[in-house]
Amino acid sequence: IKKVMPIPKAHYGGRHTVTMLPGAGIGPELMGYVKEIIFPISLFQVFKYAGVPVDFEDVEIDPNADDNVDLDYAITSIRRNGVALKGNIETRSTEAGVLSRNVALRNELDLYVNVLHCVSYPGVNSRQKNIDIVIVRQNTEGEYSMLEHESVYGVIESMKVITNFNSERVARYAFEYAKRNGRKKVTTVHKANIMKLSDGLFLEISRRVAKDYPDIIHNDMIIDNCCMQLVSNPHQFDVVLTTNLYGAIVSNVVCGLLGGAGLLAGKNYGDHYTIFEPGTRNTGTSIAGKNIANPIAMLNAAVDMLRHLGHKHHATVIQNAINKTINQGIHTRDLGGTATSRDVVDNILKHIKIATA
Ligand code: ADP
Ligand code: MG
Repeated sequence: IKKVMPIPKAHYGGRHTVTMLPGAGIGPELMGYVKEIIFPISLFQVFKYAGVPVDFEDVEIDPNADDNVDLDYAITSIRRNGVALKGNIETRSTEAGVLSRNVALRNELDLYVNVLHCVSYPGVNSRQKNIDIVIVRQNTEGEYSMLEHESVYGVIESMKVITNFNSERVARYAFEYAKRNGRKKVTTVHKANIMKLSDGLFLEISRRVAKDYPDIIHNDMIIDNCCMQLVSNPHQFDVVLTTNLYGAIVSNVVCGLLGGAGLLAGKNYGDHYTIFEPGTRNTGTSIAGKNIANPIAMLNAAVDMLRHLGHKHHATVIQNAINKTINQGIHTRDLGGTATSRDVVDNILKHIKIATA
């Protein structure tokens, strides 16, 4: 098993360049906060730690363009840099042939696994407390294969593609993750009682891979029961391994239990490239430009990115500042607070300043 994610190439005297895809809705304002927090830390620490050696390459994708020029450019940029930080690119169109740019990016870069580590913040008044669940989701196939057609008038067929190859590598990822991180149990979530061939294959492969990890408990659960169990008794879950659409649903259920769309960050991994983004992948169109979006999820994504690039010290300083801000009760209204996005960011900056003084 390989599965050690390659560290991207450093450019220009040890500095990393990261592709920044702001996307639509609240994406651009959240990216602004990321830059504010990463660049001041460079200023505060310029003598002590020589700053965060990261530069951003901004790439805009116009989701309404008829061609894929922007998308191709973004893919080229990520191939060059190895790493991207991403907001959600809106694809509201329900017209056939208009690809979701988000799905196209993940498929084209073969980012076959999405990892969402869902840990409760003690300072957030959430529906469930002390949750620590890792969701490992197949990220490139299943219901997201984008193969739909109208076979005869009034009859639509949509292909759900499950392959041996991708089921095996996502299962291996989940068990390796569990082993390396001292996790005790992996639960495969599926609907193999109905989709006997497709989900059946996914389940069967996870059972086969589980045999290589005798120290890790393996069980499985039907997706509908899983949603109920997550809401009523989430503490039974450790690592959840699942297909693409179930992963999207389960991720949103757990984020909801922990405090909503504005907190957690997710990682999209392949063998060569990594994209960091907010865990629930929302656009937040209705709250854009109002200074009310919770900036934490995108800032957590930036912290994950710094850690991935090996900038552990800077990641920790920012992480601590975020945690202090949340635990102090500086909350945007999605968390029941009255703080603006700006208030949250200013408080984080204040803690960074204190920590690096
Ligand atoms: P989608 O992109 O799936 O259409 P939305 O963008 O509508 O989803 O987001 C879903 C919900 O989550 C909305 O109520 C939105 O306001 C909220 N939301 C998303 N991101 C944030 C955030 N960063 N801070 C606060 N609320 C958010
Ligand atoms: Mg949206």
